[in-house]
Amino acid sequence: MGENTRVSIPQSFIQELLSRVDVVDIVGRYVQLKKGGANFMGLCPFHGEKSPSFSVSPSKQFYHCFGCGKNGNAIGFLMEHTGSGFVETVKDLAQQHGLVVPQEQISPQEAARQQAQREQRKTLSDVLAQAAHAYSERLRTTPLAIDYLKKRGLSGEIAQRFGLGYAPDTWRGLASVFAAYDDPLLEQAGLVIHHEADDKRYDRFRGRVMFPIRNERGECIGFGGRVLGDEKPKYLNSPETPVFSKGHELYGLYEARSAIRDAGHVLVTEGYMDVVALAQLGLPQA
Ligand code: ZN
Repeated sequence: MGENTRVSIPQSFIQELLSRVDVVDIVGRYVQLKKGGANFMGLCPFHGEKSPSFSVSPSKQFYHCFGCGKNGNAIGFLMEHTGSGFVETVKDLAQQHGLVVPQEQISPQEAARQQAQREQRKTLSDVLAQAAHAYSERLRTTPLAIDYLKKRGLSGEIAQRFGLGYAPDTWRGLASVFAAYDDPLLEQAGLVIHHEADDKRYDRFRGRVMFPIRNERGECIGFGGRVLGDEKPKYLNSPETPVFSKGHELYGLYEARSAIRDAGHVLVTEGYMDVVALAQLGLPQA
């Protein structure tokens, strides 16, 4: 899942961060707590209950549920509650407290290279977000595509949750979305194909229902596109780009993560439409 998973954060920084946060404040953002003796008590957010068995200790900086046994510190609570990963949670929390997560020592050249890479990724994500928005707007005004999704049993609400869209069946549909159709960024983002031989450019996705693929932060990093009829290829995906590496991403993970935590399991299916259809059927952990 990108470079995040390879970041190692020094233990000393985690300790410093934990010394600046108060687990009572953190839990209190999500759970109504009442003082009871030395601790605070509330209804456990991780299992259904009517009388409070969820205890937060300001002196130990720990929470513990006597009902379901869940326990941990402020970082663990946030991970459990939001479904975010460790690095992501630490970064968020550090930012809220004005701290910068320390990076390993790197040379100025390497720092510049990483900065350029981050900027390129950011620019590509912006381009992809703009395309996703245009595709979803287009879906609203394309009865043919709406009918197709309805026939597959999808509600407008589910289509919206997954950001589904429609790429019109024209060669240069994105020319009306982006100021410069010949901007190389559109090729780098995998949205436009540049045919070198005759220097022609055209949209990669045409006449397809569009499934935005999101990373763990919810940013659109690519698309899967499905034809409405029986044309081939049935599915077309974004190519590998600086922001999209197929082997490292799982479609629907971002949308499903809190449901996966609630259910305690995950359903893995073969296709985009399976994921969306299962969510529609009340199985959002797919
Ligand atoms: Zn509990």
